[in-house]
Amino acid sequence: MNPRAERCDVAVAGAGTAGIVAALAAARGGARVVLIESSDRLGGIAIHGLHRFVCGLFRTGGAHPGAPLHGPATRTFCRRLAGGEPEQLAVRRGRVWLLPFAGGEALAACAEREIAAEKNIRLIAHDPAVRAERAGDRLAEIGLASGLVVQPAQAIDCTGSAALCRLAGAQVDCPAQPALAGYGFEVADADESKAGAPGLALAVPYLLRQAVDAGRLSVHLSYSTWEPSEVPGQGWIKLALPVHAVARAREQADFAWGILKMAPAFARARILRHVPAPLARETGHVRGEYVLTEDDVLGARDFPDAVVHNAWPIERWVEGQGVVYRYLPDGQAHGIPLRCLRPLGGPANLLCAGAAVSAEPAAAASLRVMGVCMALGEAAAAHCLA
Ligand SMILES: Cc1cc2nc3c(=O)[nH]c(=O)nc-3n(C[C@H](O)[C@H](O)[C@H](O)COP(=O)(O)OP(=O)(O)OC[C@H]3O[C@@H](n4cnc5c(N)ncnc54)[C@H](O)[C@@H]3O)c2cc1C
Repeated sequence: MNPRAERCDVAVAGAGTAGIVAALAAARGGARVVLIESSDRLGGIAIHGLHRFVCGLFRTGGAHPGAPLHGPATRTFCRRLAGGEPEQLAVRRGRVWLLPFAGGEALAACAEREIAAEKNIRLIAHDPAVRAERAGDRLAEIGLASGLVVQPAQAIDCTGSAALCRLAGAQVDCPAQPALAGYGFEVADADESKAGAPGLALAVPYLLRQAVDAGRLSVHLSYSTWEPSEVPGQGWIKLALPVHAVARAREQADFAWGILKMAPAFARARILRHVPAPLARETGHVRGEYVLTEDDVLGARDFPDAVVHNAWPIERWVEGQGVVYRYLPDGQAHGIPLRCLRPLGGPANLLCAGAAVSAEPAAAASLRVMGVCMALGEAAAAHCLA
């Protein structure tokens, strides 16, 4: 046997929201878990500052959010992240219910605490999966960049981009027009009192829209938003970037800031930090035994083999339009069949969970929020334990 090989019941590749909950659920069910993460932090794309709400936990509408749609591992993680029962802390914005949390650092710290407390989880961080070896229809080995080898009985790809599925030869579709990516920077010392009656939340897109109309900025910068933090005058300017602007994200941010700095509300403001790199919303989906469709989502279709239920609207970040929402009927949810987690052409003991599950681009735009990704991780773990 290879002296650098580690055997386990379940290998989870990727420690974003899906992978964290998958690892916790599998370990709590008694499995020996190896959690493989390419970076040195846990939490995936949700830890870089732009996230302050867990979406996709509740149905829409109603005077109260009702119980979360998802299983115990997702609920427990969300309770610990938010510091209380999700249904009591949820806030309503328009038709949707959101669970507030204290931001990326809090998410990473919560994930690190929860994973460290599970004796059944061996975390291998800063060591990406770079190779997958098959033996017939089984995934026999996952090779890591360091040379370590993991030999799992079952594996779950939670890399957000189907990276392990690709390595294992499964079918992966790349969207022709990926959703707009996210970028942004945190600002301090903005003066809300100088933003006029509507406040900074409306002043930021208004100021940038004016500059776009005057031909001084690219149109996508008018979709920028202001997300305040708890500290007065502090918050994030969030930008949405089409593919062609991603490589120039910092320059785009500088342009937007140059415009905002001319407004009295930002005259004395300063930038605290930038998101380290643009955050992709969409990098590919596995082609599964079933491809979830837009009609399935909007028609609240259920399936006999549904493993997760979701009611988050189709939230598309489209060039030329910004964010466009389309909703399920209030109070309803659609099912996500286990077949969406089973990649065609992949080994029989490999599932995909999280943002890259099998769905048409429109349907995927409803599934890829944190609450649903966690629930998909939990469902994949439950299947491995069965
Ligand atoms: C700009 C932006 C804003 C958003 N805002 C919100 C929001 O406010 N609320 C919300 O609920 N959702 C939001 N979302 C969506 C949500 O953040 C993601 O869809 C969700 O977090 C995806 O989780 P995941 O675990 O599937 O993937 P990821 O978070 O992408 O995690 C994947 C992990 O796998 C690791 N990895 C990748 N390749 C390998 C490899 N080969 N080997 C090992 N590890 C690997 C990565 O380092 C990463 O840690 C937003 C998304 C974007 C882009």
